[in-house]
Amino acid sequence: MAEEKRSLNFIEQLIEEDLRKDYKREELQFRFPPEPNGYLHIGHAKSICLNFGLGRTYNAPVNLRFDDTNPIKEEQEYVDSIKEDVKWLGFEWTKECYASDYFQQLYDWAVELIKNGNAYVDSQPSAAMAEQKGTPTQPGKNSPYRDRSIDENLELFEKMKNGETTEGAHVLRAKIDMAAKNMLMRDPVMYRSLHKKHHRTGDKWMIYPLYDWAHGQSDYMEGVTHSFCTLEFVMHRELYEWFLEKVYEEGKIKPKQREFARLNLSYTIMSKRKLAELVNKKVVSSWDDPRMPTISGLRRRGYTPASIRKFAETIGVAKRDNVIDVSLLEFCIREDLNKTAPRVMGVLDSVKLVITNYPEGEEEWLETENNPEDETAGTRTIPFSKELYIEKEDFKEEANRKFFRLTLGKEVRLKSGYIIKGEKVVKNEAGEITEIHCTYDPKSRSGSGTEESMRKVKGTLHWVSAKHAIEAEVRLYDRLFNVEAPDADKEKDYMEFLNPDSLNVITAFVEPGLKNAGPMEQFQFQRLGYFNIDKDSTNDHLVFNRTVTLRDSWAGKNKN
Ligand code: ATP
Ligand code: MG
Repeated sequence: MAEEKRSLNFIEQLIEEDLRKDYKREELQFRFPPEPNGYLHIGHAKSICLNFGLGRTYNAPVNLRFDDTNPIKEEQEYVDSIKEDVKWLGFEWTKECYASDYFQQLYDWAVELIKNGNAYVDSQPSAAMAEQKGTPTQPGKNSPYRDRSIDENLELFEKMKNGETTEGAHVLRAKIDMAAKNMLMRDPVMYRSLHKKHHRTGDKWMIYPLYDWAHGQSDYMEGVTHSFCTLEFVMHRELYEWFLEKVYEEGKIKPKQREFARLNLSYTIMSKRKLAELVNKKVVSSWDDPRMPTISGLRRRGYTPASIRKFAETIGVAKRDNVIDVSLLEFCIREDLNKTAPRVMGVLDSVKLVITNYPEGEEEWLETENNPEDETAGTRTIPFSKELYIEKEDFKEEANRKFFRLTLGKEVRLKSGYIIKGEKVVKNEAGEITEIHCTYDPKSRSGSGTEESMRKVKGTLHWVSAKHAIEAEVRLYDRLFNVEAPDADKEKDYMEFLNPDSLNVITAFVEPGLKNAGPMEQFQFQRLGYFNIDKDSTNDHLVFNRTVTLRDSWAGKNKN
């Protein structure tokens, strides 16, 4: 689909409308504003693709702004990971900004608000304030401190800033309307006192601004025109505009808050707080555990930046919340890797196959294509010998006519090799099959040009030569949760829906050429799926992640 032909989404329509009345094209500016309190997830990727995508479309600046106003939860580690993830997704920010760089300006403005009678220090316990807040149908009550003198407010506020008051004893509130229909307008808190060191400002500030006060003013200071956020903030828009009016100077860019639907993905959760809990409680190994919906988890799992951008583009921006099926994300990575990943053979759950009429001690190197989807990918050779491994599930002693894999008395082709016929099985005392014996047709080698090599048989199996194959640890992943919306149930904790089988570690046999596969290299294990080298892998101990199976085994559909 050509980019130009796509019709404008509702965000682009909003911008086009604004260009007709409120902004010049060269004034457009966007930002991506993460709070550095965790690693970014696929929901953030959607916001990143939206904001940086608009930057590209309109050739406009896009800032990366850290909304670092809560020193309790924020850390440098998160700042670093966020930068890495945005870059990895393929985007460059114009400026790296921090809300904490604006603490002085925000403070000066707050002092102005106090002087103009638009803010006051409230010294009640938070329970009393909550009680006075009212309900959606009942107006709130004024605080007894609401009419404190300006001088007293100024003095207290400065003391709060310096940490000279008891932590939590006072807050600064905007003086708006305790009877406002929108509860957020009932004298919202602008600052709380918090005697905590900040990862950037140290102990300079013992008060910290709240989101509503910091966010819009940061947009304004940077010259942002469109401040996109998710739908939970619709009710905050009125407050965003109220604060802005108080600080606005004629002639400057006035930013607009606009909302879009957040991304929800089935079978996972999408909240940094909850993802942090999975890490802290050791449900997963780390933020980049390949089962995590974090960008770093997806990267380690083998997702490519292109596949994530494609996913974001496919789901588009919506005005209403919905849940996107995770199989769409899987579809995007399959499409991408199908074009680029070299094909190799690996056997996950093996049984030995002995070719009884193949000469003892002989081996040959068979030529095979690296990627039938890519002519430039070339060929390689793989070893063939008397004893091979094949997949247990590719053999049945007795099978019906629809089973096109190996059975006794029937023929199949070994991929890039020979046609074989099942002859007999060897079992141990427990009755389990330990070896399958077969015979091969020496004239049937693929690509040898003989009549026999052209002979069509129904099934083709992947295999590795037992003597040459190398062992590898393979980590097979499944969904982290058993239900579609693990955090939708108000009665139950999402932890109750964890899938106990989300990780299955096995030992597989892979072709010897993989011995020197490097970090993050990606492959298609033929007939099985896409796999990549995990960061735990070494030359002596290969570790693969299964990125995704070849087919959508959940939907039961046969794509690819
Ligand atoms: P979380 O609850 O996961 O921490 P958040 O919204 O608090 O999410 P922020 O770091 O404040 O996280 O968000 C940065 C930007 O990413 C915001 O503009 C926010 O709207 C956007 N964002 C966060 N989650 C999603 C999501 N699931 N879908 C789309 N955008 C999102
Ligand atoms: Mg947040």
